[in-house]
Amino acid sequence: MSKFQVNKVAVLGAGVMGAQIAAHLVNVKVPVVLFDLPAKEGPKNGIVTKAVEGLKKLKPAPLGVVEDAALIQQANYEEHMDVLKECDLIIEAIAERMDWKLDLYKKIAPFVAPHAIVASNTSGLSITKLSEALPEAIKPRFCGIHFFNPPRYMALVELINTPTTEARYLDALEAFVTSGLGKGVVRAKDSPNFIANRVGTAGMLATMKEAQNFGLTFDVVDDLTGKKLGRASSGTYRTADVVGLDTLAHVMKTLQDTLSLETDPFYGSFATPEVLKTLVELGNLGQKTKAGFFKKVGRDVLRFDLASKEYVPAGQKADEVYGRMLKKPAAERLKLLRNSEGKEGQFLWAILRNGFHYAAVHLASIADNARDVDFCMRWGFGMKQGPFELWQEAGWLEVAKMVQEDIDAGKALCNTPLPKWVFEGPVAERGGVHQQEGSFNPTTGQFVAPRNLPVYQRQHFPETVLGSNAPKAETAGTTVFEDESIRLWTLDNDVLIASIKTKMHAIGGGVIEGLLKAQALAAESYQGLVIWSPDEMFSAGADLQSMMPAFMMGGAKAIEGAEAELQKAMLQLRYSNVPVVSAIRGLALGGGCELAVYSSKRVAAMESYIGLVEVGVGLVPGAGGLTYIARGAAENMALSTSKDILPFLTEGFTAAAMAKVGTSALESRKLGYLLDSDVIVPHKDELLFVAINEAKAMYASGYRAPHKRSFPVAGRSGIATITAQLVNMRDGGFISAHDFHIGKLIAEVVCGGQVEAGSMVTEEYLLALERKAFCSLITHPKTQERIMGMMSTGKPVRN
Ligand code: NAD
Repeated sequence: MSKFQVNKVAVLGAGVMGAQIAAHLVNVKVPVVLFDLPAKEGPKNGIVTKAVEGLKKLKPAPLGVVEDAALIQQANYEEHMDVLKECDLIIEAIAERMDWKLDLYKKIAPFVAPHAIVASNTSGLSITKLSEALPEAIKPRFCGIHFFNPPRYMALVELINTPTTEARYLDALEAFVTSGLGKGVVRAKDSPNFIANRVGTAGMLATMKEAQNFGLTFDVVDDLTGKKLGRASSGTYRTADVVGLDTLAHVMKTLQDTLSLETDPFYGSFATPEVLKTLVELGNLGQKTKAGFFKKVGRDVLRFDLASKEYVPAGQKADEVYGRMLKKPAAERLKLLRNSEGKEGQFLWAILRNGFHYAAVHLASIADNARDVDFCMRWGFGMKQGPFELWQEAGWLEVAKMVQEDIDAGKALCNTPLPKWVFEGPVAERGGVHQQEGSFNPTTGQFVAPRNLPVYQRQHFPETVLGSNAPKAETAGTTVFEDESIRLWTLDNDVLIASIKTKMHAIGGGVIEGLLKAQALAAESYQGLVIWSPDEMFSAGADLQSMMPAFMMGGAKAIEGAEAELQKAMLQLRYSNVPVVSAIRGLALGGGCELAVYSSKRVAAMESYIGLVEVGVGLVPGAGGLTYIARGAAENMALSTSKDILPFLTEGFTAAAMAKVGTSALESRKLGYLLDSDVIVPHKDELLFVAINEAKAMYASGYRAPHKRSFPVAGRSGIATITAQLVNMRDGGFISAHDFHIGKLIAEVVCGGQVEAGSMVTEEYLLALERKAFCSLITHPKTQERIMGMMSTGKPVRN
């Protein structure tokens, strides 16, 4: 097969999943056509049109920017079958009925291009059975592609082959789903509900069952099974409310329908819990009906009480002693829980034990190896660690013995013993399923390495499981300089990497010093500088805390000095002849946003949230953010025939004055914090690879810093126009007096002060205005109230 190119994708079925998968394809710039049945009344595309409209309102947002909904081509099976011929990949996501899916496959078969891959998003049906309806010519190109809801945000995609799927097609699809869509691929066996939903739903059912056994209420269970346990913060029951209790009941039903006591010895514990049945009957389906296990009334959270069928006050927390136990090292933690007297501790041990038991018994039939199970629970169920990782961390044989003792004592969900491989052979001898050479495959008895497809070369530091001893980004490569604020290092001796190490990557004196050192070193000996950190954020902003001592001692004057240093550093990066590439992921706020926009180029993961948020703490951007907005407006005007700068300024002004943060890289670009020439990367783990390559390409093409130019500003008339609008907002009660004051200061800076419209200014001139505005605010009591509030509670104060 020559290179598999995905020029266009068809998604069949515009329901919950199909519509969102189409949206995500748009996010990553893949042309997509979304099909559904022809509407019985009105325009034939009616069903799809409604689904596309729905995408604009759905939370969490499936689209990076709402307007992009228009990029989804709409189609129906009556009028547009020919469009299928243009598609390289067809993803079927219609209702979960074997007969309907088979009918549809027969209908589309004549229109499938000879090279196209056809894949089903079924969450439980047999992929092999589905393939049987297809013509022989399509069978080698057919597989399962199981996304998780919501598909933009959930990392996991399970790919499932049939006996007739050709490996090269699956490999090509894996590369596309990984690099093109930014997902984590796990290959699953064609067993009911595949890996994640099988283990995850069985786990959820077991948790509900144990909660009932131990007589624990939903609020206490959620407190125990959320963050403290390293799982999604919504715990067990609130997660169920978010998913929708009808959906959950449906997934449970698939498990009940497709399995039996012969195929799954845990089958006895798969009955739908009484309380869930009751809630579904009452139509209390969770968040979407505003009542489920929990219900919010005003500011109070209530929980459903099965006995009275009423909602009663909730908010009870678990005993703090268990929170403390859960912080202990794994081995100690499990022993403490198992031996604890209290029912909350015993409950925790029981659900963990059930998880180990289930995963071990089923590993051979559902997955190729233990790593795949752990990744599924991490990427598909939001767990920090999968069951095998925790088990191994706590001591393989000790935990195995504890689990087996419980099984023998009749405490487990079923009496099936742990498989032989747990106690004998390489896993037992080497202390676990994950080893340096790979993870255990119980069928072959070997430890298998991660798949080595070329696409994975793009991930310098892929996610790994405990025990695999993969190199850590924090210590990999060659360190050139390191202190408590920053690490300067290189992977290839060509590009220098600066990794900020402070908490939330806050930018204080140490970080600035480190970045300047990095720029100087890179200019001297490297092709480029990449600013990248291994964890989840770029930078949450300037380090307010570290500014406080200077402020206390030297007042606003001392702060002005610190601001001037920050600004100088930003200019040094901007006018660096060695390219400086910011590799952004997660938050890039305030000073973090300024660092990004003063770099030569930005490479941003799709999930990047960029913005100037200083107004939230009663300040204005002071490290060049406003100067950037003014310059950007002038540059954009220069590209047009207009001589009026104000329209080009509005977006940037509003973004800063309202502390807007892009909810995706795409929206951050709309706000002006990324440029069209910047790169958006779907997969977070490819960010470093792409940034290094960008830096090298810039060097290779002879990069030089931009010219230092003066540029026109909007001047006093611009300030007057913006102020008039601010007055309306203040008098209409939309903004506070302090917001008005800050907004006016921002207007004064971005318009270049009280000068004639069109006056030419320099960056240094604007930076001085920015400093002045910043320093005038820092002594303002309302600003101090906002700063103190933010530092003590982490939440913005409205005053
Ligand atoms: P849905 O009910 O929201 O949408 C199903 C769509 O299929 C509808 O738009 C409907 O018009 C269309 N449809 C119904 N009958 C049809 C037929 N006979 N021929 C053609 N189209 C038909 O369903 P969903 O939740 O989006 O699920 C779709 C698929 O994705 C299912 O296989 C489901 O198991 C799977 N899935 C769902 C989730 C989830 O969380 N909802 C997660 C992963 C996978």
